[in-house]
Amino acid sequence: MRSDTATTWPMTDFAATRRLFDLPEGVIYMDGNSLGPLPRAAVRRLDRAAREEWGGMLITAWNRAGWMDMPRRLGDRIARLIGAPEGSVVVGDTLSIRLWQALASALDLNPGRRVILSDSGNFPSDLYMAQGLIRTLGRGHDLRVVAPDEVESAIDDSVAVLMLTEVDYRTGRLHDMAALSAQAKAAGALTVWDLAHSAGAIPVDVTGAGADFAVGCTYKYLNGGPGAPAFIHVAPRHLPNVTPALAGWLGHRAPFDFDPDYRPADGIDRMRVGTPPVLQMAALDAALDVWEGVDMADLRQRSMELSERFVSAVLAGCPDLALASPEDPTARGSQVSFRHPQGYAVMQALIEAGVVGDFRAPDLLRFGITPLYLSEGDIDRAAEKLAEIIGSGSWNDPRFHRRAAVT
Ligand SMILES: *Cc1c(COP(=O)(O)O)cnc(C)c1O
Repeated sequence: MRSDTATTWPMTDFAATRRLFDLPEGVIYMDGNSLGPLPRAAVRRLDRAAREEWGGMLITAWNRAGWMDMPRRLGDRIARLIGAPEGSVVVGDTLSIRLWQALASALDLNPGRRVILSDSGNFPSDLYMAQGLIRTLGRGHDLRVVAPDEVESAIDDSVAVLMLTEVDYRTGRLHDMAALSAQAKAAGALTVWDLAHSAGAIPVDVTGAGADFAVGCTYKYLNGGPGAPAFIHVAPRHLPNVTPALAGWLGHRAPFDFDPDYRPADGIDRMRVGTPPVLQMAALDAALDVWEGVDMADLRQRSMELSERFVSAVLAGCPDLALASPEDPTARGSQVSFRHPQGYAVMQALIEAGVVGDFRAPDLLRFGITPLYLSEGDIDRAAEKLAEIIGSGSWNDPRFHRRAAVT
C-alpha cells in the first residue's frame, strides 16, 4: 500500500490532524462513521459565512462570495478523495435523494432491462428509495436483494443496475468495487455505488473501478456536520446522455433565462436540483481543508492498525462479545462491530463512561476507527472501559435500558 521509495512514512501527521478537531475533554469519539466531530475551522468559516457573507453582502453573496459555484467547487474537492476527475462530482441535497437520482439515470441508460440488484447489507434508505422509484416509474422494475456474499453469483444478463453500498454500515464488510463493477459491466449492467462509509474512510478509486455512478454523504467520515449535503459522481462518459429525473432549475443550462422548458446544463451541473445549503457547505469547505494534508494510503494503514489493536484488546478483555466484522482488516472498511445480546444497554453505559460508539439493532455495538483524531492511547482506554463495563455488569442498570429516538 505504501510506496517502497517513500522514506518518510507516514507522510500524514496524525497528531496534527487531531488538533484540528474540537472534541470534548475526556471523550473518546468512536462514532465518526455516523457523525464526524467538529473541525475547529468550521466554526470560523460558519461565522464568516453568516456575518460577512449573509449579513454583509446579502443577496449579492451568491456572486461575490461564490455561493453559486460552491456545489461544483466542493464536488471537485471530494473528487480527489474518491478517485474521480474534476467536473464529475457535485454537492447538494441528501444522500437518499442522490441515490434516487443516480439510480433513475442508470435505469434510463439501460432501458431494456428490469432488475435492480442489491444486497441485504445495504442501508434501508437505499432500498426504500429503489422501491419508491420503481413505483414512480411504473415500468415493472424489480428490486432483487441477495445476501452480500451472493452478489457475485446473482449478476446476470437480466440486471439493469447493480446498486451497492461498498462498506456495510453494520459490520463494516467491504465489497470489491473493482471486481464487481467489472463483472457488472461484462454482464451489461450499470453500477451505482454508495460511498457513505467509504469516502474519507478508505482509499476509493471510482475511475479505476470503472464505476458508472457513485453517491455519498459528507457528515460521516468527511466531518461536514449534521445535515451536511451529499455528493453525486457520474462517470464523464455518461454525462452527456444523462437526463436528470429531478430536473430542477439549477440543473438547467441557463437558470436565469427562466425558460419554461428544461434543458440540462453541460456536465455534472445537470445533477443540481435547487438552491444549495450555503451554510452547510461553508462548514463542509472547512472540514475538507483537514484532508489537504492527508495521504489516503497512510490513513488506511493507520486505520487497520488501530482497528486490529481494538479488536484484539476487546476480544481479550470481553469474553461475552463476538466480532461481527470480518476478521481480515483488508476485508472491512474503517469500523468494527461486536455482538452482545444487550448491546444497547452496554453502549449506553460505555457512552456514560466517555467512550462514544453506537448501537445498531438487534445486537451490534459499532465503533468507527478514525485516525484523524483517534490515537493508540484512545483505543486502549476505550477497550479498557468496555472490559470494565462488561466485567462488572454495570451496564445492567435500568437507566441504560431506556431507548432514545436515535440509537
Ligand atoms: C448514512 C447513510 C444514508 C443516509 O442517507 P441520508 O439521506 O443522508 O439521511 C443512506 N445510505 C447509506 C448507505 C448510509 O450509510
